[in-house]
Amino acid sequence: MKRLRAFAPHERTLATLLKGRLEQEGIACLLRNEELFAALGEIPFLECRPELWVVDDEVLPRARQLLEHWLDEERMAPPWRCPGCGEELEGQFDRCWQCGRERG
Ligand SMILES: [Zn+2]
Repeated sequence: MKRLRAFAPHERTLATLLKGRLEQEGIACLLRNEELFAALGEIPFLECRPELWVVDDEVLPRARQLLEHWLDEERMAPPWRCPGCGEELEGQFDRCWQCGRERG
Protein backbone atom coordinates (compact mmCIF):
# COMPACT_ATOMS: atom_id res chain seq x y z
CA MET A 1 0.00 0.00 0.00
CA LYS A 2 1.37 3.40 -0.94
CA ARG A 3 0.39 6.96 -0.11
CA LEU A 4 -0.75 8.82 -3.15
CA ARG A 5 -1.38 12.28 -1.80
CA ALA A 6 -2.08 14.19 1.38
CA PHE A 7 -4.78 16.81 1.31
CA ALA A 8 -5.32 19.97 3.31
CA PRO A 9 -8.15 19.79 5.84
CA HIS A 10 -10.40 21.93 3.64
CA GLU A 11 -9.81 19.59 0.68
CA ARG A 12 -11.74 16.75 2.29
CA THR A 13 -14.53 16.89 -0.28
CA LEU A 14 -12.02 16.92 -3.09
CA ALA A 15 -10.22 13.91 -1.63
CA THR A 16 -13.49 11.98 -1.43
CA LEU A 17 -14.34 12.95 -4.98
CA LEU A 18 -10.94 11.83 -6.30
CA LYS A 19 -11.21 8.55 -4.43
CA GLY A 20 -14.49 7.85 -6.22
CA ARG A 21 -12.97 8.67 -9.59
CA LEU A 22 -9.98 6.40 -8.99
CA GLU A 23 -12.34 3.58 -8.07
CA GLN A 24 -14.21 4.15 -11.31
CA GLU A 25 -10.88 3.61 -13.07
CA GLY A 26 -10.54 0.30 -11.27
CA ILE A 27 -7.94 1.54 -8.81
CA ALA A 28 -8.53 0.35 -5.26
CA CYS A 29 -7.82 3.13 -2.81
CA LEU A 30 -8.44 4.25 0.73
CA LEU A 31 -8.97 7.55 2.44
CA ARG A 32 -7.09 7.55 5.71
CA ASN A 33 -6.60 9.78 8.73
CA GLU A 34 -10.14 10.93 8.59
CA GLU A 35 -12.53 9.32 10.99
CA LEU A 36 -9.66 7.84 12.94
CA PHE A 37 -8.49 11.02 14.62
CA ALA A 38 -11.93 12.53 14.76
CA ALA A 39 -13.13 9.41 16.56
CA LEU A 40 -10.35 9.71 19.08
CA GLY A 41 -11.47 13.23 19.73
CA GLU A 42 -7.90 14.43 20.01
CA ILE A 43 -7.88 16.50 16.89
CA PRO A 44 -10.81 18.67 15.85
CA PHE A 45 -12.51 17.02 12.90
CA LEU A 46 -11.80 19.89 10.54
CA GLU A 47 -8.08 19.78 11.22
CA CYS A 48 -7.63 16.19 10.09
CA ARG A 49 -5.61 15.87 6.95
CA PRO A 50 -7.14 13.26 4.68
CA GLU A 51 -4.69 11.05 2.82
CA LEU A 52 -5.35 9.05 -0.30
CA TRP A 53 -3.63 5.65 -0.45
CA VAL A 54 -3.58 3.08 -3.24
CA VAL A 55 -3.86 -0.57 -2.26
CA ASP A 56 -1.63 -1.96 -5.04
CA ASP A 57 1.84 -0.50 -5.28
CA GLU A 58 2.02 -1.23 -9.01
CA VAL A 59 -0.81 1.15 -9.88
CA LEU A 60 0.75 4.08 -8.07
CA PRO A 61 2.31 5.71 -11.17
CA ARG A 62 -0.95 5.44 -13.08
CA ALA A 63 -2.99 6.71 -10.14
CA ARG A 64 -0.61 9.63 -9.74
CA GLN A 65 -0.90 10.51 -13.41
CA LEU A 66 -4.69 10.41 -13.31
CA LEU A 67 -4.73 12.52 -10.18
CA GLU A 68 -2.48 15.19 -11.67
CA HIS A 69 -4.66 15.27 -14.76
CA TRP A 70 -7.85 15.72 -12.74
CA LEU A 71 -6.31 18.36 -10.53
CA ASP A 72 -5.29 20.31 -13.63
CA GLU A 73 -8.82 20.04 -14.98
CA GLU A 74 -10.21 21.18 -11.69
CA ARG A 75 -7.99 24.25 -11.59
CA MET A 76 -9.36 25.23 -14.96
CA ALA A 77 -13.00 24.46 -14.25
CA PRO A 78 -14.93 27.62 -13.38
CA PRO A 79 -17.24 27.65 -10.37
CA TRP A 80 -20.92 27.32 -11.12
CA ARG A 81 -24.22 28.08 -9.44
CA CYS A 82 -26.76 25.35 -8.75
CA PRO A 83 -29.99 25.89 -10.71
CA GLY A 84 -31.90 24.12 -7.95
CA CYS A 85 -30.93 25.91 -4.77
CA GLY A 86 -28.58 28.67 -5.87
CA GLU A 87 -25.56 27.24 -4.05
CA GLU A 88 -22.19 28.34 -5.42
CA LEU A 89 -20.10 25.27 -6.26
CA GLU A 90 -16.49 24.69 -7.19
CA GLY A 91 -15.69 23.65 -10.73
CA GLN A 92 -14.72 20.10 -9.93
CA PHE A 93 -18.18 19.14 -8.72
CA ASP A 94 -20.65 17.64 -11.17
CA ARG A 95 -23.43 17.66 -8.64
CA CYS A 96 -24.71 20.03 -5.99
CA TRP A 97 -23.77 18.82 -2.54
CA GLN A 98 -26.62 20.77 -1.08
CA CYS A 99 -29.63 19.48 -3.00
CA GLY A 100 -28.10 16.74 -5.20
CA ARG A 101 -29.02 18.39 -8.48
CA GLU A 102 -26.69 17.68 -11.40
CA ARG A 103 -24.84 20.40 -13.17
CA GLY A 104 -26.92 21.77 -16.01
ZN1 LIG B 1 -28.35 22.74 -5.21
